[in-house]
Amino acid sequence: MNPYRGRLAPSPTGHLHLGHARTFWIAAQRAKRFQGTLVLRNDDLDAARYRMDFAAAMLEDLRWLGLSWAEGPDVGGPFAPYDQSLRLPLYRRALEVLHACGAIYPCSRSRRDVIEAAGAPHEGGSDDEPLYPASFRPPAGSPLPPLESKITVNWRLRVPDGEVLRFVDTRLGAQQAVAGVDFGDFPVWRKDDCPSYQLACAVDDAAMGITEVVRGEDLVRSTFRQLLIYRALGKQAPEFHHCPLMKDEKGVRLAKRHDALSLRSLRDRGERPEEILKSWEVQEPTT
Ligand code: GLU
Repeated sequence: MNPYRGRLAPSPTGHLHLGHARTFWIAAQRAKRFQGTLVLRNDDLDAARYRMDFAAAMLEDLRWLGLSWAEGPDVGGPFAPYDQSLRLPLYRRALEVLHACGAIYPCSRSRRDVIEAAGAPHEGGSDDEPLYPASFRPPAGSPLPPLESKITVNWRLRVPDGEVLRFVDTRLGAQQAVAGVDFGDFPVWRKDDCPSYQLACAVDDAAMGITEVVRGEDLVRSTFRQLLIYRALGKQAPEFHHCPLMKDEKGVRLAKRHDALSLRSLRDRGERPEEILKSWEVQEPTT
């Protein structure tokens, strides 16, 4: 067995809230328990929502909480760079592999076309997107246009319709989803020449030798998509541990707009990190 490598992968699109922090704390606890290495990756690909001050704040807030990592944008490490915006050539190479094996195709349908054709929205997590209609696809085996040097069209991965995909989550146990039913063809590269979260995440977790991905359970469906990327790239998938999501007092899942529950606000109000961690130790004795 490879030595345990876990990662924290925050997106600098707002201040981290208690829900993110608890997931990261669980990731850190697991890395400690398995005497592994913890990596911090800055998921800063979303140029429209990314802010440099949030990137600095998220590292500072996590350190304030008492988390530390052995590799990351601020400390370096053998798999540097740890900022996704600096790793674009790696994602592009993966896209070329997917193109060469015919796993993807260009799609000029708009988001609105897909939403209209898909009908009712799918129930699911925050990673949910309307089911891409199979009728929008080019026929299997049709010749692909070459990849432009600057991409101006969305490229989607063709999912194996009807195949039951499975993995055993280290918290939730056996999970399964049916490709083409629970989720459809999904973007790996966007027409603004930016890799999708699914591609960048799978490529990085593989390249950085991550052995277990710990993240919120709103991303279970993304895990199935990423399993298809690992398979198409011929990479071994890590294990997955999806954590419960934190809710506010009204039962609404925490989001970055819950500013009062951001680590920053808690810290400004004089909350002590040890008290926060202690409350989680009571709730999560089995991490
Ligand atoms: N940056 C992503 C997020 O914050 C990471 C998700 C993941 O852990 O894969 O949602």
